[in-house]
Amino acid sequence: MIPPIASNFVAGESPGAALSHVEDLNRQGVGAILNLLGEHYHERPAADEDADAYVSLVEDLAARDLDACVSVKPSQIGLGVSDTAFEENLARIVDAAECFVWIDMEDHETTDVTLDAFERHAVETDGNVGLCVQANLKRTPDDLERLASLPGKIRLVKGAYDEPKSIAHTKKARVDEAYRDCLEFMFREFDDGVAVGSHDPKMIDYAAELHAEYGTDYEVQMLMGVREEAQVELAADGVEVNQYIPYGSKWFQYFYRRVRERKENALFALRAVLS
Ligand code: FAD
Repeated sequence: MIPPIASNFVAGESPGAALSHVEDLNRQGVGAILNLLGEHYHERPAADEDADAYVSLVEDLAARDLDACVSVKPSQIGLGVSDTAFEENLARIVDAAECFVWIDMEDHETTDVTLDAFERHAVETDGNVGLCVQANLKRTPDDLERLASLPGKIRLVKGAYDEPKSIAHTKKARVDEAYRDCLEFMFREFDDGVAVGSHDPKMIDYAAELHAEYGTDYEVQMLMGVREEAQVELAADGVEVNQYIPYGSKWFQYFYRRVRERKENALFALRAVLS
């Protein structure tokens, strides 16, 4: 069972627990992006098992009236085994899904194959898939030029992986500047909307300004357990908000990452342990 301190960031171990969180969230006007926790598999059976779980999840979602979609990690569904394993499993999930399917972006060694897979499915499904791109990577402005002509949605994030200086901006101020530049390009050039994957109030305000200037649709995506009041407030103000909801038995590593990345999260965890 997930201890109460972790359940702030993880919806539960089972799909049922995650779906019940989605129901609560939808009642507050916030949509859901479900992510089964798991990554970096190097054996095909583990990758196939999680792909099976996603197929079953998207079939379950098709039978329910929920505002929910899924987001998958390439290394969870086979990229660490072979490009073929990844592509076969992604195709199974996309084919089974009536809901939107997001593809998360992992470290820079996976960028090309992930972009290629997205492109194929974006065209085949006429835009029922989305891709995450990372503003910290120096290549991203060029990737956005390529993505602008494709159907499907793009989620812009700052980037969660420690990348080498030769290919990535590593100073926070420079990453923020790159994020703004990418966001401006996306609002100006994208037809299918923009997903702002950030908790940063400055970036969210900037997105609202860009929406006023260019009229492009947008949504804000934030993680479960992070600025949840702001998520509900933004939704009440008419902004489309979707919460990224991790669930599954592999919750510990994810929870530990959340606690480490921010002093406030660590203090919250410490207080919960002491009380
Ligand atoms: P930061 O730059 O970390 O912080 C900026 C400001 O945001 C802070 O000053 C504060 O005001 C606010 N803030 C940030 N965190 C908190 C908090 N915990 N509590 C309160 N306020 C806070 N990365 C990838 O590399 N690949 C992915 O596929 C990917 N998918 C993601 C999907 C979603 C929906 C989200 C939200 C993030 C995803 N990320 C992904 C992670 C992303 O790259 C960043 O590492 C992460 O979002 C932190 O950057 P930030 O823009 O949210 O804010």
